[in-house]
Amino acid sequence: AYNFNAGPAALPLAVLERAQQELVEYKGIGMSIMEISHRSKEYEALNTETQELLKELMGIPDGYQILFLQGGASSQFAMIPMNFLKPGRVGSYVHTGAWAEKAYKEAKLLGHEVHIAATSEAHDFMQIPELNEIEIHPDSAYLHITSNETIGGTQFQEYPNTGNVPLIADMSSDILCRPVDVSKFAMIYAGAQKNLGPSGVTIAIIREDLLQDLPKNIPTMLRYEIHSTNNSLYNTPPVYSVYMVNLVLKWIKENGGVEAMEQTNRAKAKLIYDAIDESKGFYIGCAAPASRSLMNLTFRLASEELEKSFIKQAEAAGFVGLKGHRSVGGLRASAYNAVPMEACEALANFMRDFQQKNS
Ligand code: PLP
Repeated sequence: AYNFNAGPAALPLAVLERAQQELVEYKGIGMSIMEISHRSKEYEALNTETQELLKELMGIPDGYQILFLQGGASSQFAMIPMNFLKPGRVGSYVHTGAWAEKAYKEAKLLGHEVHIAATSEAHDFMQIPELNEIEIHPDSAYLHITSNETIGGTQFQEYPNTGNVPLIADMSSDILCRPVDVSKFAMIYAGAQKNLGPSGVTIAIIREDLLQDLPKNIPTMLRYEIHSTNNSLYNTPPVYSVYMVNLVLKWIKENGGVEAMEQTNRAKAKLIYDAIDESKGFYIGCAAPASRSLMNLTFRLASEELEKSFIKQAEAAGFVGLKGHRSVGGLRASAYNAVPMEACEALANFMRDFQQKNS
């Protein structure tokens, strides 16, 4: 199938095949990686190697901790204010759409003061606010952004400079899709199930100064300090998910690293955006061109009826996952790192063909 699912999403075929080969016996130990103790030297080696690979691929400087957590990126929406918003401090958020909203609502739910530093609501969340529109509250403990809005299909092209205010980014749907200067961020987090591997593990990259002086009166499992001092082994980690992330990171490295991912992703996205832009209005791109996502490409047709027919015919032709998110409708092609160029070529050809038959 041409897999354009938004998440869980396509995994590299080479990774799945390697996992299949190693499923029953991992590295000659006589059992599966799923069956070993997380306190074993084999798992410890896997934990360390996965951290090192991520550090290398993302160019993470010294002074950051890499944590493997559970509970999805959604749990980070609560853990961030719980850990970082001391009394009198404010959480500043850039409101770019559905995921940003979920993040700041969780802080509100916990009774914290939230400041919307910028919003693209007036543009129906179809563009990222200009960086100079972002107004950070002076008492901010952090500025939170959603690097890529998976539902709307918008993506920060550049990140704000926040001075002394820690910048925290939800990169669930675009981590490793392009190089990022990690030193600009105090924290980056991402659920694995798009560019990193299967669901079950959430990666958090946190600058060490943020881990100082954190509140101790919150549930143990929700304290970053606990996961950091225990090297993500406070309790049983999602061993198999971490193993799969390890394989995905090796695949990225073998395929030229994050720079090569970006090059391919740009070429893939261009194929589909060109099909939209050259359609003379038959396909309507949802995101403003300057905010278009490399990962989630959203578009509409003139009527819902035509969209239904597009999806039906696309499914028959082997395309999976092109229906837009249930909250916004329309169409969405998620072209994550593991989606091959041929799938995007096939989709662009299908779009042109469908247009010809229906206009
Ligand atoms: N943030 C973004 C940008 C997402 O796209 C998603 C899921 O699609 C989430 C957060 C939630 O992630 P999880 O399902 O791991 O909680």
